[in-house]
Amino acid sequence: MALFLDVKYVNLVSSQLPKITKKNDYLWNVRCPICGDSKKNLNKMRGYIFRKTNDLFYQCHNCGIGLSLGNFIKTLDEGLYKRYVLERYSQGEGGKSNFKAPTFEFKPVRFDKVSKNIEYENAQKLSELPSDHYCVKYAKSRKIPKEFYSDLFFTPKLKSFVLELEPNNQKEIVDDDRLVIPIRDAYDQIVGISARALSSNKLRYIALNFSENKIYFAKNKINTSTSVKIVEGAIDSFFVNNCIACGGSGLMATAELIEAKEKVLIFDNEPRNKQIVDLIQKAIDKNYSVVIWPIEINGKDINEMIVKGLSIDSLNDSIERNTFFGLEAKLKFASWRKC
Ligand SMILES: [Zn+2]
Repeated sequence: MALFLDVKYVNLVSSQLPKITKKNDYLWNVRCPICGDSKKNLNKMRGYIFRKTNDLFYQCHNCGIGLSLGNFIKTLDEGLYKRYVLERYSQGEGGKSNFKAPTFEFKPVRFDKVSKNIEYENAQKLSELPSDHYCVKYAKSRKIPKEFYSDLFFTPKLKSFVLELEPNNQKEIVDDDRLVIPIRDAYDQIVGISARALSSNKLRYIALNFSENKIYFAKNKINTSTSVKIVEGAIDSFFVNNCIACGGSGLMATAELIEAKEKVLIFDNEPRNKQIVDLIQKAIDKNYSVVIWPIEINGKDINEMIVKGLSIDSLNDSIERNTFFGLEAKLKFASWRKC
């Protein structure tokens, strides 16, 4: 029950935290009361109260302080801290130790989804940017359908945006400008991102997973009673029906995460790329259905095919007609790799 109790005390202490902003069920952004955040800019808010397993913690990205929720409350209100400790003891937990192993995993029932309209300081939705903004222009050049703009972000500072999404993130991340594709869970909570560089950077894509689970990107809810398509890049997946993108961990590993009537692995059209050739060979040997691209198709990946003029309907037609498995896949693969 510690989590419920912690949330209750965040609400109780919130009157002493001007500008506190609730980002999601277990994430709040505040002006740091310990260092005062920025004196010049009263809008700077670099303190975060966030969830880690069954407890809440406080961390400030300005002064670097990290505290358990109890110790954070103590700096603001001794009286409230005492009540907090008492209530935690009455629940059979030490107020100081935030790390008592739970005797059972308490999962609160959630009925509602997290809002998709959260405002971020370091990112904006593509749908809210002017059409001549360079990130919108980039999305247009990749022919990403406009219907998805409302769930794509432009960030001028990737690292700052990541710290808004996951205050505890310790990874070394560049703070550059990127198109960010959020990966959401069943409650629409952002559990990871795929971020495409907009300026020249050796790291064209950065994939991050904020959850403890393996994740994948799905632009819409997938229908597992029919064939589910699996591609590598999130951008590629915008053009394919009933499709998920693995975003890094590999098509076969991602296929293992879902139960579906049929799983079709769609690799890039690069017969001279040894790594890809080997992966397709492996997938066929493991009896997966794979797409073997026909010779006449123009483009080394799905997005390039679309950019070069293939319609979304023709693309999906081609995928259906060129999906093979078993012996037939072996024969088609053998002639494709000689292209
Ligand atoms: Zn601080």
